[in-house]
Amino acid sequence: MTPDLPSLMARVVRQDIQGLHAYAVQPSAGFVKLDTMENPYPLPEALQQALGERLGRVAINRYPAERTEDLKAALAQFAGLPEGCALTLGNGSDEIITMLSLACAVPGAVFMSPLPSFVMYGLSAALQGVRFVGVPLAADFELDERAMLAAIAEHRPSLLYLSYPNNPTGNLWDDAVVDRLIAAMGEAGGLVVMDEAYQPFAARDSMARLAAHPHVLVMRTMSKFGLAGVRIGYLMGRSALIAEIDKLRPPFNVSVLNAEAALFALEHADEYARQAAEIRAQRQRLYEALLAMHGVHPWPSEANMILARVPDAAAAFAGIKSRGVLVKNVSALHPSLANCLRLTVGTPDETTRLIDALRASL
Ligand SMILES: *Cc1c(COP(=O)(O)O)cnc(C)c1O
Repeated sequence: MTPDLPSLMARVVRQDIQGLHAYAVQPSAGFVKLDTMENPYPLPEALQQALGERLGRVAINRYPAERTEDLKAALAQFAGLPEGCALTLGNGSDEIITMLSLACAVPGAVFMSPLPSFVMYGLSAALQGVRFVGVPLAADFELDERAMLAAIAEHRPSLLYLSYPNNPTGNLWDDAVVDRLIAAMGEAGGLVVMDEAYQPFAARDSMARLAAHPHVLVMRTMSKFGLAGVRIGYLMGRSALIAEIDKLRPPFNVSVLNAEAALFALEHADEYARQAAEIRAQRQRLYEALLAMHGVHPWPSEANMILARVPDAAAAFAGIKSRGVLVKNVSALHPSLANCLRLTVGTPDETTRLIDALRASL
């Protein structure tokens, strides 16, 4: 008998999955794309050629093998992996969040992060049936230390995610508060994941915290660095802990082409450092332009995006879009983001287009 597909799906697919919406990627062809924190710079022509030749020689008929180990070694050196620590790779750091959720989904577990923050923390917990507790940020998107400490004491979360800098607010939190939360998590017996997706644009990082505390993990990605299309994320922590999480990794999750492209990029880290410096300069320029606009409130950023409150985000978003520039309206993500737009920092020309488009849309 041929089954009726809708009723078959209703029976076999988890009810909570059936109730979810798929992750939507907004169509962007033809726009100045300033919505997803990509690095705006393509590879210089000569490097494109060189990369093409490198990739052409890769043995794509073989499963990924030693090249993945070469990439781990190169990333360990690039990041300054401390003694006693190891690193595992994800197909983007999104996959690492999934691996963490799978590894830590013991019955009764709670995962936590401040809110608003990166949406995948809560989504990934939900997909594993783990309770997620979000703790609202304080004024100006600083950590609410008292509320965080109280929530840690009450829920004893097994995972605390700190996006540092935070997405979508762009700020780095007060380091003394971060350190006290790390201490509290140590007492509660949980892990702290410092998500440093925006590290190339930030003044500070958590490598010293990783070296000092066995319950701290640092997660990074090459996406905002300039390889969003390549999909390489990595997680650093104590070797024994990483070995457990690595068991959840699909064996060949990083393709030979991804590994080779990432190695190539690390060999040209100076080029990417130059791009990051230019992006930081444009960030400053965009911030000052936003500050000068009547009715616009930008927050200081340590990432390659700026969060700004405008009088009417829906109208500003539409006005900017009608002028050919795509940004992200984050108003609906959290009550504290009402009328907020998240503006990715682009090239000097793109920044000019964005500034002109926003000014004309107010
Ligand atoms: C973009 C982003 C990621 C995901 O990056 P991928 O490596 O591309 O999956 C993780 N965390 C934060 C905070 C991000 O903004």
